[in-house]
Amino acid sequence: MSAKPPALVWFREDFRLADNAALTDAAQSGAPLLCLVILDDASLPGAAARWWLDGAIRALDTQLQSRGGRLHVFRGPSREVLPRIVRQTGARSVFWNRRYDPNGRETDAAIKTELKEAGITVRSHAGALLHEPWTVRTRSGTPFQVFTAFWRSARDLGDPRPPLPEPPALTFADLPPACAHAGLTPDDYALRPAKPDWAQGLRDEWEPGEETAHDLLGTFLTENLATYAASRDFPARNTSSRLSPFLRFGHITPGQIWHATAEKAGTASQTDTAKFLAELGWREFAWSLLFTHDDLATRNLRPAFDAMPWRNDPKALKAWQQGRTGYPLVDAGMRQLWHTGWMHNRVRMVVASFLVKHLLIDWREGERWFADTLVDHDPASNATNWQWNAGTGVDAAPFFRVMNPILQSRKFDPDGSYIRRWVPELAPLPDSAIHAPWEAGEDTLRHAGVIPGETCPAPIVDHREARERALAAWRSLKP
Ligand SMILES: Cc1cc2nc3c(=O)[nH]c(=O)nc-3n(C[C@H](O)[C@H](O)[C@H](O)COP(=O)(O)OP(=O)(O)OC[C@H]3O[C@@H](n4cnc5c(N)ncnc54)[C@H](O)[C@@H]3O)c2cc1C
Repeated sequence: MSAKPPALVWFREDFRLADNAALTDAAQSGAPLLCLVILDDASLPGAAARWWLDGAIRALDTQLQSRGGRLHVFRGPSREVLPRIVRQTGARSVFWNRRYDPNGRETDAAIKTELKEAGITVRSHAGALLHEPWTVRTRSGTPFQVFTAFWRSARDLGDPRPPLPEPPALTFADLPPACAHAGLTPDDYALRPAKPDWAQGLRDEWEPGEETAHDLLGTFLTENLATYAASRDFPARNTSSRLSPFLRFGHITPGQIWHATAEKAGTASQTDTAKFLAELGWREFAWSLLFTHDDLATRNLRPAFDAMPWRNDPKALKAWQQGRTGYPLVDAGMRQLWHTGWMHNRVRMVVASFLVKHLLIDWREGERWFADTLVDHDPASNATNWQWNAGTGVDAAPFFRVMNPILQSRKFDPDGSYIRRWVPELAPLPDSAIHAPWEAGEDTLRHAGVIPGETCPAPIVDHREARERALAAWRSLKP
């Protein structure tokens, strides 16, 4: 420990030691470090992601403790808490990695101005994206509206910078008594659900932290990258990387993933590698859209949809949320989400399409539900994907392309193993009947002990009628 003025490192969505430009810069400044997190109601995520945040804080605190430091946790509005800590600790410098959501940008800009006026050095760094949102632009300097053009342009910028190693030696400062009393202990974080504790499924599924992220990446690159393009759409195979919550909380950076994937490129085909990297590209595209459209989660990017006659149907919305629509693949996805805080991408598309088209419920209801239940929820990817699936976004799937949840199920879960895992009441049905039990013959149902409407939900809408209703609503917009 040292008596020099400390440098504050403010962690927000970057819970890692390696490839952390703010931490590296602070360490190189020679000042002893005070690492901190602020739990600010204005930026706290939804319930499932809050559970993850709790784990992310604990994991980083453990890492810092093993290097002689601590992660100090405070609560309150960042604009008040951070300047107060600067005053109380006598810090002369503050370091952070940039965030790109509207609230985060506004808060950071205000704090930066205030601290700079007080003579404090503030240094912010890039790290959450391959390229900062304002750097991928059309020739005329405007944001891209089409993914393929965006991604081509992003790749033309070249490789992201090589990842930074963890700083070799970290020196830490003590928290002075004046502000030590305001620091929270893990029992005070209040980020985990308590009454009731619904997080068992999340605990069974995930272990937040930097080390787990790199283990997952290693496994993915060794075992699944080589078949990624062909198998990523099959939810039962579990062959996508499952890195989304780790990226969301910055346990790993897209730059680290990019370079590790490039190193493996020799062992996987160009198609698989390009497909996987393009998914990181969608994440970048989403952030670039949010950067340009602050209200991406609340306003149709295509204003024609403002007149859409969405239905107000709380009962149907609840059936969808609870995985009780009677459509097996939809219900499997919604139950996977509820139990694990995550859902396979293909199934996210199917359930989103079902809500918006089969139930004709406003996509913003789905966006809000996902925001509260996904551990990987981020405001850019969620809003972009909802608008894409609802047909209201830029470069979106056209509304009139209504996904058939039964055909999707037959195609991407042919032997029904994903459905059997999440909708166990259908498990005894043969593969031929599991995708649409109500169409099965009486003998098949009796033999399996399945009675739609009694032992399992009956379909809450008829596929053909629902499709026609959706198309009629869409035609009424005269798009
Ligand atoms: C309606 C809907 C809502 C979604 N909400 C979110 C969200 O809140 N947060 C989130 O991270 N992803 C969201 N996605 C995108 C996608 O479903 C997840 O990123 C993906 O399922 C994560 O699994 P993975 O890490 O195994 O992905 P992989 O297939 O291994 O892909 C690698 C990484 O690329 C990124 N990625 C992949 N697909 C997409 C995509 N379509 N859009 C943006 N980034 C992508 C993710 O960071 C992912 O971790 C949503 C998709 C839909 C259809």
